[in-house]
Amino acid sequence: MSNSAVETREFQTEIRQLLDIVINSLYTEREIFLRELISNAADAMEKVRFLQLSGQEVKDRDLPLEISLETDETAHTLAIIDSGIGMTKEELVENLGTIAHSGSKEFIKHLTQDNKDLNLIGQFGVGFYAAFMAADKVVLSTRSYRPDAPSYIWTSEGTGSYQIEEGPEMARGTKIVLHLKENAHEFSSPDTIKRVIRQYSSFVPYPISVNGEKVNTVQALWTKNKSEISEEEYTEFYKFIANAYDEPLFRLHFSSDAPLSLNTLLFVPQENFEKFGFGRLEPGVSVYCKKVLIQEKSKDILPEWLRFVKGVIDSEELPLNISRETMQDSALIAKINRVVTGRFLKFLNEQAASDPEKYKTFWEKFGMFIKEGTATDFTHKQELVKLLRFESSAMDKGTLISLADYVGRMKEGQAAIYYVNGPTREAIEAGPYLEVFRKQEYEVIYTYEPVDDYILNMLREFEGKKLMSADQADLDLGQEEKSEETGLPAAEVESLNAWVKEVLGEQVTEVRASKRLVDSPAIALSAYGTYSMQRVMQMTNRDLNAPAPSILELNTDHPMIKKLNELRKQDDPFAKTAAEQIFENARIAAGLIVDPREMVDRLNRIIERALS
Ligand code: ADP
Ligand code: MG
Repeated sequence: MSNSAVETREFQTEIRQLLDIVINSLYTEREIFLRELISNAADAMEKVRFLQLSGQEVKDRDLPLEISLETDETAHTLAIIDSGIGMTKEELVENLGTIAHSGSKEFIKHLTQDNKDLNLIGQFGVGFYAAFMAADKVVLSTRSYRPDAPSYIWTSEGTGSYQIEEGPEMARGTKIVLHLKENAHEFSSPDTIKRVIRQYSSFVPYPISVNGEKVNTVQALWTKNKSEISEEEYTEFYKFIANAYDEPLFRLHFSSDAPLSLNTLLFVPQENFEKFGFGRLEPGVSVYCKKVLIQEKSKDILPEWLRFVKGVIDSEELPLNISRETMQDSALIAKINRVVTGRFLKFLNEQAASDPEKYKTFWEKFGMFIKEGTATDFTHKQELVKLLRFESSAMDKGTLISLADYVGRMKEGQAAIYYVNGPTREAIEAGPYLEVFRKQEYEVIYTYEPVDDYILNMLREFEGKKLMSADQADLDLGQEEKSEETGLPAAEVESLNAWVKEVLGEQVTEVRASKRLVDSPAIALSAYGTYSMQRVMQMTNRDLNAPAPSILELNTDHPMIKKLNELRKQDDPFAKTAAEQIFENARIAAGLIVDPREMVDRLNRIIERALS
């Protein structure tokens, strides 16, 4: 043993919290700890392979890349030994003592709150700590690939701290010895270990042995013929590469020779953790050349908005020693990116056509990425737009339509595709914006999120049809002016408008008689085109206090407006209060934020008057 001092260090707070849960929870699937440790061992060896390929000097060059497990049923220990890159002292402290990724922190916070499934531990970059599910003491010895790095021993009992000391000289790689808990002695039985490996780690691309006996068959599933792969194999492979414990929602496996030689196997997971607020997803597709890993979880091989996809892209054409920098501006990578993205979108469109229910599930979970793509990816916009789904006035709540569905139902003479934004279906349907569309029997798309409006506004048209917001101030659906028979005389309309404009002052740029209203007394329209765009701007500027001026349209057929006109002519001061409230109501219906104090004050005056 080395004589150097033992150093004791504290775990970062989040890790202490995580360990506390890991140590004190009861688990249904405790054996996943092994999957995590084997996956780390495999990662460490992939890194060696990469270093060697890119011509770097690596200690113990000829050491075979393999994982050995050793069990001791008397001492109740399990050892996992790899010939991976190992760790220096600094790397030990950084990798097994701190957490940098915000998603991991979120995961831990979430765990603390309602003790959720520890199965997800590997997906959040803290898989190593699963060791403490089975062990009450972990002793890790490691030797970095760097030629002159010393060996270190890291020891912890999973409570607040760990120890580091220099260790005796050893071969490159890492050895983790688990001192098994009283109730976890089963993991020192070779049969148990072999079973667990077959269950979780059959696709690890390195040989694994238990007490010297080889247990896995290494295979690159994506290069096999589709007909030779069983459903179970696909699922196991997915679980392995995605660190997942469930089945994928979608799977796309395809090979091509032209325009590029490609073997691609992609999966869409069951859940979208980004949506749950666990932070931004990291890309999940790795790049291979003839089964050799070129770049793990590549940022360049697919567009950013496809970061929810997991899988493998293997192309014979890639040079083995391509570096991260050259990946970024390689024309070949860009071409693979384009081809695979196009193929994947085609696949989604096919799924949407053949199994709309399943596509709906996909849309509800991953639609945010399709929207992101539509808004940001010019190359694939055309295909992405076809994947968008919305609720609409023609369908029941929960039924989704595509823009193509809408166009197929458009009425004779209908000039545009119309959409309206609101917080909920109920709010939209209760508001004044739909009235004219109901009368015309035009379908209206409902959008509930500002990003939807942003996209539709940006698209401008679909299949040659204009996209228009239903709250457009200059909307013309060929409605007639209200007649003098049912409403107010034209001369009075003009002076009423002028009077209301006077009362409301700067808040309105114009007051005019409405052609579009049927049941509502008034409607507020944006002086800048549409409120939906204005709301997007409000959200991005966070400037909620600057109310944008409106155009106010009055329904001159409405009894309330007629009565208002009477009061105004009688110089009743209450007319002013009523006009102000009608305007506020219209703004509320437009989804704008109004000053509640002023409003309550005014409403009290109105009630007082009504009661007297
Ligand atoms: P993740 O694998 O998602 O990064 P882990 O908690 O499983 O998260 O591991 C944390 C880090 O510790 C790894 O990223 C790696 O740098 C390091 N590590 C863990 N196990 C090994 C190993 N066997 N060899 C080398 N490094 C390792
Ligand atoms: Mg890991």
